[in-house]
Amino acid sequence: MSSMKKILVSACLLGYPVRYNGSGKRITHQILSQWFDEERLVPFCPEMAAGGTVPRPPAEIVGRDGRAVLDGQAEVMDKTGQNLTRLFVTAAGMAFEVVKKNQIRIAILSDGSPSCGSTFIHDGTFSGATKTGQGVVAAFLSKNGVAVFGESQIDAALKYFRALEHA
Ligand code: SF4
Repeated sequence: MSSMKKILVSACLLGYPVRYNGSGKRITHQILSQWFDEERLVPFCPEMAAGGTVPRPPAEIVGRDGRAVLDGQAEVMDKTGQNLTRLFVTAAGMAFEVVKKNQIRIAILSDGSPSCGSTFIHDGTFSGATKTGQGVVAAFLSKNGVAVFGESQIDAALKYFRALEHA
């Protein structure tokens, strides 16, 4: 296997139309472009991998955060009232399989998402309000030794990546 270090990235951040409403959330950053050209980026959408469809109703964590979901202390609900906790936990496990397969130690994930949120998530009221916390996938990866960054933290991700390269 190649020893080139890879980076997991939320597929929507590369423009894949996988968000609940069928949109992407493409971001532009010089280092992301460089990593893309170097074929270091591993795009992944956990919700779609676990069987989500496009479009799908928006979902939020009701209770504390993704870590609480993993501990059985909170749930993921969609706006229609369907309980999606199991799908989101499955999605987290699938993301971790990709991480293991590619020996990944760093992820850049789409902030605010009940799956990928790495610094904030929506507060479970479907009002647009947000709060500090991680989504289910971000929490699972963090718990298992992956450094998780949001799309506004790419400079910090680069610093971490360089430290990994020189470790
Ligand atoms: S935030 Fe994560 S789960 Fe949501 S669309 Fe993007 S990659 Fe998929």
